[in-house]
Order: sequence, then C-alpha cells, then structure tokens
Amino acid sequence: MSTAAAFLRAEDLRKQYQVRRGLFGKGKTLHAVAGVDFAVPAGTTFGLVGESGSGKSTLARLLLAAEPTSGGRVYVDGAPLATRTARQRKAFHRLVQPVLQDPYASLNPLMRIGDIVSEPMRIHGLAKGPALAARVDALLQSVGLAPALARRFPNELSGGQRQRVAIARALGLAPRALVLDEPVSALDVSIQAQILNLLKDLQRQQGLTYVLISHDLAVVACMSSQIGVLYLGEFVELGSRDDILLRPRHPYTRALMASSESRVDSVAQAGAAVAEIPSPIALPRGCRYQSRCPHAAPRCREQQPALRAAGATHRVACHFDL
Ligand code: ATP
Ligand code: MG
Repeated sequence: MSTAAAFLRAEDLRKQYQVRRGLFGKGKTLHAVAGVDFAVPAGTTFGLVGESGSGKSTLARLLLAAEPTSGGRVYVDGAPLATRTARQRKAFHRLVQPVLQDPYASLNPLMRIGDIVSEPMRIHGLAKGPALAARVDALLQSVGLAPALARRFPNELSGGQRQRVAIARALGLAPRALVLDEPVSALDVSIQAQILNLLKDLQRQQGLTYVLISHDLAVVACMSSQIGVLYLGEFVELGSRDDILLRPRHPYTRALMASSESRVDSVAQAGAAVAEIPSPIALPRGCRYQSRCPHAAPRCREQQPALRAAGATHRVACHFDL
C-alpha cells in the first residue's frame, strides 16, 4: 500500500451529521464516515464494499468534494484537495468525475444525449462547434454507442445504454479518476458484466484510477486490486484483492463471502436473525461488530480493535487472530 504514486488518497477522513429524532428530540451526532485511510495508486481500482448505511456514498461525496469533510483530508495527485475558489473546483472536476447508480436519475430527461455528453465540455470551454460534435461522436463510440444516438432522449435508451451515456459524459473532460457509486446495481446481471468490462477497457486505454463502490462483493472482486470493507463508517478490513478474497481475517468479511451470491443484502438478512446492525448514532462501546460476531468475547465489548497489520498489504480490525 505504497502512498508514493497514489493518485487519490484519503487521510483520516470523517463526516458527521447532526440528526434529531422528532421535533423536540435532542440533537445527536451520526458518524457516517469515522476516520478512513486509503491510497489508490494511479491506474488501479480501489473497491469499497459494505452493506446499506455503512457510509459508502458519504465517502464518495467526500472524495468528489460534493460535501465538506468534518475532518481529515483528501489528496489528489499528491496535493491536498482545495475547493475554496471556483477555479480550484473547476480544476478538480476536470481530474475526478462521478458515475452514479441510477443512470435514469442522473441524466436530464429533457436533454438530448448529445447535449448531455457535451455539457461539461461546454461549461469548461474545451470545445465548440464541429470540434465539439466530433468529440461527442468519439466519446459515444468509446463507450460502445452509435453516434446517431446523440439525437435521442434518455427515455428512448435501455438502462445499459443510459449508463454508457453517463460514463461518456464523465469522460468528456478527460479526467484521471472516476468515483463510481454502485455503477451497475440498477442493471440486469447480464448488462452488469458488459458495463464492468467497458470500465476495465477504458481503464486500460486511458490509465484511469477508479474508486468503485458496491454492496456486491462479487462486483468489487472482479474489478479491484485493493479492497476495503466498510462497516458503520470504518474499515474492518483492508488489503489487496487476494488478501481479502483468499485470506479474509475479519468475521464480517467472511460473512460477506459466505452469504449466497456474495451479496451484502443477504448478510444483513442472515445477521438480522442474530442481532440487528447498531444505529450509527448509538454505537456500542468496544468493537462495532460485536453484536453480530460469532467470536465476540468480553474484550470486544470493552475495547475497540485498531486496524492493525495482518500482512504486507493487509490490515484488519479484530482482537483475534482468526
Ligand atoms: P447504501 O448502500 O444504502 O447506499 P451507503 O453505504 O451508501 O448505503 P450512506 O448513504 O453513506 O451509506 O449513509 C451512511 C450513514 O449516514 C447512514 O446512517 C445515513 O443515514 C447517514 N447519512 C447519510 N447522509 C446523511 C445526511 N445528509 N444527513 C444525515 N444522515 C446522513
Ligand atoms: Mg449509497
């Protein structure tokens, strides 16, 4: 996990929300992201897996500077992310672009595909006239779409085609990194594989750096060189793809893998039979995973395990050597 050539790096990244239960309820602090560190070498994929509410999208928004952090820092290409001025924000958006889950919600239904794809380039003044039209054609072709689709509207396209449009739009500014938040979750399984293959091809051709978020360990496994397993805003395990897939150490990671189809949803269901996931505003003392852990011991209720080395690239937050 060398940080030297990291294109994206998170350092003790945190996000808290003040939430209120009911009109007269007392304000409480919800720790959506509770101190997360990782580094993504240029041209590689960092996969982020965790069940609903673990903080994946919040982390994505912090990496995209779509929300202010409550603590910690993001580094882009070695420099701290700065978004104070409009110029700094523009420069950042040229480097790091989002691709979101629902290609229907993220594409303006009233705009033609060609305008959707060209909009960021127009805003950034990168091209106009015939040069812009040619660039849109090339982008559509690069994501496997016919340039003739430029005249269509989003509702005339299939889900897979819409996600290709969203990717073409994100690539218009020639970014160096994409933050992909559940990019295939809304698609049929057969279409998912096509989009994941497209993302792999684009990464190889353009040297793109990805942060790929999914609740589906199988999706993250087929794409990532490093994987972080998020639970209630913290990593419980972090390592190379092989560390996580072949040598999982944390009981939560193992539960993710044992669950049918490696889907985190089914872990949530299986876990619910034993104990509920704690609320992120009323976290237990000690280990966050204790209420669902088959190995929980008195120490786990007293002391929170630190993320400690379990190998050259492998970190795990558990008191035990499982
Ligand atoms: P999912 O798989 O359902 O998309 P997620 O892992 O993306 O889940 P987040 O959306 O990041 O999870 O949410 C993490 C926690 O932060 C949740 O408990 C959520 O309710 C809370 N949260 C997120 N955004 C806000 C907000 N704007 N205000 C208050 N709480 C929030
Ligand atoms: Mg989410």
